[in-house]
Amino acid sequence: MKKVTVIGGGLAGLSAAVFLHKKGCNIRLLESSPKLGGRAYAFYDREKNLYFDNGQHILAGWYQNTFEYLKAIGAYNKLDFQKNLEVNFYDTGKNSFNLKTYNLPAPFNLLTALLTYKALNFSDKISVLMIYKIFTDKKLESLKNVSELLRKINQKERLIKYFWEPFIFAVFNAKPENINCKIFLDILKNGFSKKEFSSLVIPKTNLNELFIYGAAEYFKKNNIGFTLKEKVSKIKIKENKVEYIENEKGEKIFSDYYVSAVPFFRFTDLFENEDYNRYFKGRGNINSSSIISLHLFFENEIPGNLLKNNSFGMTGLIGTKVQWIFKRNPYHLSIVISASDFLDEFTEEPAEKIFSRCISDLSKCITGFESLRVKDYKIIKEKRATFIPDNLCIDKRPDQVTELTNFFIAGDWTNTGLPATIESAIKSSKIISEKF
Ligand SMILES: Cc1cc2nc3c(=O)[nH]c(=O)nc-3n(C[C@H](O)[C@H](O)[C@H](O)COP(=O)(O)OP(=O)(O)OC[C@H]3O[C@@H](n4cnc5c(N)ncnc54)[C@H](O)[C@@H]3O)c2cc1C
Repeated sequence: MKKVTVIGGGLAGLSAAVFLHKKGCNIRLLESSPKLGGRAYAFYDREKNLYFDNGQHILAGWYQNTFEYLKAIGAYNKLDFQKNLEVNFYDTGKNSFNLKTYNLPAPFNLLTALLTYKALNFSDKISVLMIYKIFTDKKLESLKNVSELLRKINQKERLIKYFWEPFIFAVFNAKPENINCKIFLDILKNGFSKKEFSSLVIPKTNLNELFIYGAAEYFKKNNIGFTLKEKVSKIKIKENKVEYIENEKGEKIFSDYYVSAVPFFRFTDLFENEDYNRYFKGRGNINSSSIISLHLFFENEIPGNLLKNNSFGMTGLIGTKVQWIFKRNPYHLSIVISASDFLDEFTEEPAEKIFSRCISDLSKCITGFESLRVKDYKIIKEKRATFIPDNLCIDKRPDQVTELTNFFIAGDWTNTGLPATIESAIKSSKIISEKF
């Protein structure tokens, strides 16, 4: 049996362990923190007696590698699938608009959704027709950024504000001017290549129950060893191979193969400067973007007709810092602010200021919101939630297969062609497992 050591127990590391075990490898996984899951986990808040996800995670129908991983760990049934893409939005004039795809083959489901979207006027709808270029015009890939691309295909200001911006912030956690055109075009072409790919998919449980407990169970059943609080501090390279890795206690760990599944902001630390510059120069040196979540708990039940949301209890806001609202139960809403670093230094604000800015946004958009009494709130800041898929990052994402004959790199930031997503993390591991 090939002995493989996986460094990092986020979704890339967990799925690498599962996929490589299925290929007959003998796996050991080392995780530096006291928990598995990396950037997708839930934690228990004693005071509120509740589990909180570190941020709302949404999947999509095109997350095929993620579904394979979830099936392997017995957690696929913990997902809720939307039949057709549907989202309700409110703008700062308290108007509500429903964006709904119909039961048509892709990409006509998207085009008809936009043509019947009441937020758009006649000239916006004419510009919707130009979207066909996304699926046909290869030259768009070489434009400077997505902002330029949207102008090039004549997308009107209102279409950008009421459709493209919410979509872009949700998928890329970055502004259009910071997004590479190829990644953007590939996501759209893939997401709208099949009708079921464009639907939203949402966890029915917290993130631990979805991604982690099943993996831990799988490890136990299959004798996959994993240790928490075991940080790898060094990867020793000799003659184009990893000779061994070393943990913080200075213990050497030898195996046939090694998979790094650490995030981009930890990768460089693993190597001697000379080795890093020789084999991976610049890799991992990419920019990151934050996500803030605000949980609001109300004294009284939120009136049923206050928010028009979809079957997932999800509502989008247009023209505000707050982008998404999720209704957890009649007394609890969670609010998402993506790419918060770009929004007037939102991330660095103290909790009370973030709270009041969000309440102001919600009151601007939702009739009757100001009459609700907030009993309590909680803010979760994830400062390096994702990398920014800008032009700079393209050359800085390493391939999963490296020049070192026994060393592979997994993680959302590796060269999968996808933005920083669960699917990118798990796809990277799938690519590696296919080499075994
Ligand atoms: C708030 C938030 C919301 C998000 N929303 C979505 C969403 O809606 N949809 C979506 O698809 N994606 C979303 N994402 C992104 C998604 O969570 C990540 O893309 C994914 O979890 C990355 O997984 P990973 O395994 O590549 O990296 P990580 O999760 O960062 O895992 C790396 C692991 O390596 C460990 N490690 C680091 N250094 C060492 C070392 N030296 N030795 C041993 N272990 C080490 C770390 O502790 C960590 O556990 C969101 C992320 C956040 C933070």
